[in-house]
Amino acid sequence: MAKGGLVEHEACHIGGDWRPAISGATTAVVDPATEEVIATVPACGADDVAAAVAAAAGARERWAATTPGERAELLLELAARLAAEAAELARAESRNTGKPRDAAAGEVRAAVDRLRFFAGAARCLEGRAAGEYLAGYTSILRREPAGVAGLITPWNYPLLLAVTKLAPALAAGNAVVLKPSEQAPLTALHLARLAEPILPAGVLNVVTGDGAVAGAALVTHPDVDVVSLTGGSETGKEVSRAAAATLTRVRLELGGKAPCVVLGDADPQLVAAAVRAGAFWNAGQDCGAASRVIVSSRIHDAVADALVRAASSLRVGGPDEPGVEMGPLAYAGHRDRVLGFIERASAAGATILAGGGRIGRAGYFVAPTILAGVSQRSEIVQREVFGPVVTVQRADDDETALSYANDVRYGLGASVFTGDVGRAMDAARRLRFGTVWVNDHGPVTPEMPWGGFRESGNGTERSLYALEEFTQLKHVMVKLPG
Ligand code: NAD
Repeated sequence: MAKGGLVEHEACHIGGDWRPAISGATTAVVDPATEEVIATVPACGADDVAAAVAAAAGARERWAATTPGERAELLLELAARLAAEAAELARAESRNTGKPRDAAAGEVRAAVDRLRFFAGAARCLEGRAAGEYLAGYTSILRREPAGVAGLITPWNYPLLLAVTKLAPALAAGNAVVLKPSEQAPLTALHLARLAEPILPAGVLNVVTGDGAVAGAALVTHPDVDVVSLTGGSETGKEVSRAAAATLTRVRLELGGKAPCVVLGDADPQLVAAAVRAGAFWNAGQDCGAASRVIVSSRIHDAVADALVRAASSLRVGGPDEPGVEMGPLAYAGHRDRVLGFIERASAAGATILAGGGRIGRAGYFVAPTILAGVSQRSEIVQREVFGPVVTVQRADDDETALSYANDVRYGLGASVFTGDVGRAMDAARRLRFGTVWVNDHGPVTPEMPWGGFRESGNGTERSLYALEEFTQLKHVMVKLPG
């Protein structure tokens, strides 16, 4: 159904059917660049989730019995359908999230690429050699699908993160129930429509609705074998506690507070260019966003000046405005949360070097913001803001810089800037983060793993390791004759 040029989805996808929530409840989906309602989706309850899990459980065995090559073929077909529908997907994504259309198009391309990667990966599962480890017995290692995978995704990269989870889950032979964010569910439903003629009914189910209701019901359902969540660290703790009731395996990709450690020999212009992209991409709503720049005192002022110029040069606007680089924040409550962080930091003595408030127009826009004069223990340094806000801190030596960098409860992404390969390698070793960039901040590739230390989560996304997250090891031991 078309409304204002945008597809309006009103049904969730369960066992091959499209249905409203059993209760009939719906949630409005809002365009954050205009504040208009653009669609409604079902607000699913526990009964809808139970139906989706039953559909997945019913489809699980047949899907697991397909060969990796057959699954690869179907995932490649899905990738081709996504590629063919890329323009429409990018349009829906940018309207639902406010991100620039080009950025949304890039995410669709990345989603296609991840599907292709995991199609190939499906055929590359590894394990130890079968053999006679105990005399008189042959031991064989099987890597089997976990079963039913419950996948819960956030709103910052809705389609891309849905694909990031469901591609390895499906490739490994699991049936899945996907619960997208209540803020940005449209492209997940679109994806299910594209998959409908390709995947057997029940293999991919999508339920929309609130985290506390639909998400919680998925996590606690006894027939869900593995839960994979991308979301905030507090949500991760809540989900872990809930899953403990059934001892369901939980994989968590959570929040971040990435430092950029800038050593005294770094080039301020290179740092500013990397932070411009690494901090303000997706309006800073990125778990790996460069949110803390920790700079050697030697070049602090030059880096701060370059950062201010970089932040002030960003073109902020709606998704289809010419040359736009940064859109609004995802929803009103999140905009207010981000502004609250800035106001409290300022009240605590931070200096606002750039931005610092709303942009006066419809939509949830916040100006790219640079804050200096912040203390290591302050809220703005310690907590994830998840918006276009960067702090700049001064460090007198490498030791201090690295200790500031590690002194947060998160451990997802970090970067170090220096022309000295030895110092870079030493910093990369000592930074307690799942990804460390040297002389850049932000690029990722599906072949390499992504995962958090400490309160940024557990487990791995992307890479062959992600496939293993959705499998279960089984040892088969065969007694030999005699
Ligand atoms: P969120 O935690 O509010 O929600 C994420 C998802 O969890 C949503 O689908 C939500 O409905 C669901 N949810 C919420 N409460 C739940 C519960 N009790 N039980 C089950 N499901 C529940 O996060 P968000 O605001 O959508 O996304 C922003 C957060 O995600 C940030 O903290 C960001 O750092 C993190 N994130 C992490 C990564 C990563 O790779 N580590 C990637 C993107 C985003």
